[in-house]
Amino acid sequence: MDNPLQIAIDGPVSSGKSDISGRLAKELGLTYLYTGAMYRALAWICVQEGVSFKDAPNVYPLLAKYSIDLRPPAKDGSHGFAVWVGNTDVTDKLFTPAMSQGSSDVSTIPQVRKFMVARQQELARGKSVVMEGRDIGLRVLPQAQLKIYLTASLEERARRRWNQYKTKDPTKTLAQEIDETKIRDTQDTSRAADPLQKLPDAWELDTTDMTQEQVVDAIIQELKRRNLL
Ligand code: C5P
Repeated sequence: MDNPLQIAIDGPVSSGKSDISGRLAKELGLTYLYTGAMYRALAWICVQEGVSFKDAPNVYPLLAKYSIDLRPPAKDGSHGFAVWVGNTDVTDKLFTPAMSQGSSDVSTIPQVRKFMVARQQELARGKSVVMEGRDIGLRVLPQAQLKIYLTASLEERARRRWNQYKTKDPTKTLAQEIDETKIRDTQDTSRAADPLQKLPDAWELDTTDMTQEQVVDAIIQELKRRNLL
């Protein structure tokens, strides 16, 4: 492909990145690359190895020991992607509160970020993609034709997560979910290595009062307005 269409979507926890990116990719026939899954996979590896998430000297070598791959979804899977560690599909293991916090922790390690960015650039090279994460517009695809900063209010984002995880952990309250979301927000936006930020050339979309259909629609309109579709 001569000039692949590359769309970068960044934003805080539960701003709707995954659902929106998956839908958008499907609608436009682009490859969906969910980079958070790779940090989650590394957190999962840490647990298997008994390494604590913030123990940088012991976390980083795990990336040489294990391969982390994003692949098309399993036929019967509930996600729009699959994450493989070596020969194991770990997708269903990655969406627990521990993996959420663990992925945020390992992602603060600069060497880990450098490795992940290089791997993610390799996955996107020459392809039309919707890629989502925290540093996509900044580091992974700085040349993306459209950079989107997706947001929503803290309460709305926490409420979305709470609804999503309610059946897995019925004891958790919305107030606890708000606190956890706040902690991850603070860590993602204040870490020294490539903190989450709205880039000057990013198009910001606040999804607080929008349905997923409305968000996808708004992005498609923006792509058309920029003559990218
Ligand atoms: O997107 P998701 O919330 O699943 O990502 C898990 C964690 O991985 C985030 O909290 C963030 O700390 C980290 N991450 C990152 N850079 C990315 C994608 C995710 O630092 N490109």
